[in-house]
Amino acid sequence: MIDFRADLHCHTTCSDGTTSPGDIIKFAEDAGLQGLSITDHDTIAAYPEASLIAAESNISLIPGVEFSAVHRQKSVHILAYSFSVDSPIIKEFCQLHCHRRQERTQAIIKLLTQHGMPLTLDDFPSACTSGKNSSIGRPHIAAALIKKGYVKTIQEAFSNYLKEGMPCFVPSSSISVEETLDIIHKAKGLAIIAHPHLIENVEVLHDLLKMGFDGIEGYYGRLPAASHERWLKIGMRKGWIITGGSDYHGFIKPNQPLGSSWVNYETFSILLNHYLSNKTSG
Ligand code: AMP
Ligand code: ZN
Ligand code: FE
Ligand code: FE
Repeated sequence: MIDFRADLHCHTTCSDGTTSPGDIIKFAEDAGLQGLSITDHDTIAAYPEASLIAAESNISLIPGVEFSAVHRQKSVHILAYSFSVDSPIIKEFCQLHCHRRQERTQAIIKLLTQHGMPLTLDDFPSACTSGKNSSIGRPHIAAALIKKGYVKTIQEAFSNYLKEGMPCFVPSSSISVEETLDIIHKAKGLAIIAHPHLIENVEVLHDLLKMGFDGIEGYYGRLPAASHERWLKIGMRKGWIITGGSDYHGFIKPNQPLGSSWVNYETFSILLNHYLSNKTSG
């Protein structure tokens, strides 16, 4: 199949994206895609709604999620694909992250209050503060800071307060890469190193490349082809699956439209077949 494109990395309102799970399927069709995986941060809450809409569309949707992990005290993102969305192992792990994120938000709110910028949970959209599947993150906190008039832009919120090294930063995850890999593999999913070009620490990257990943995200957003080459070479040398996607977040990241990176049918079918074989083996 020649004209097949699948975007394997995007976010909805279930984490820090601005597009609902139903709309993202429609946007995927509008973007000329045939395949999609929604990879919200630490939650698969988009799947019930997205699956219903996908069933009525031309989009083939496969389960995905982007887990936050930590290695050498640095944040690492791990994409997981092709597990069952009914997997108790994945569901439980997402709940652990949800709890961790709620505690971290309280810690950040405390720091912001100490810096003269009080916030309460009422300042956030209810979808990200309630329920055991919610995935509240720093972009929501940045949006709340704008709403209260403390900063003008999301970038200002990160640069002055929320990013690593700034006074209101609280690390994202205490869950290790090894533990995350173990969970993904126990759930019969595939584990992929997300956006490797964003891993600044060389030791972290070298460590990850020695671990039991199944693939690497070789194509990302609107990065020029030349910057993909390093990751494609590494992926091929290791015999890993080379995935790709836009990391679409909606209007908060306008330079990464849905479909700005994609994989062909050959790659998509590896993930799809893995998912289907999981389903049939129970
Ligand atoms: P969290 O998972 O809560 O740590 O939030 C991580 C998300 O925040 C990332 O996926 C990005 O969408 C966003 N983000 C991280 N750093 C920045 C930054 N410097 N400026 C704007 N957004 C950022
Ligand atoms: Zn994000
Ligand atoms: Fe990420
Ligand atoms: Fe992402």
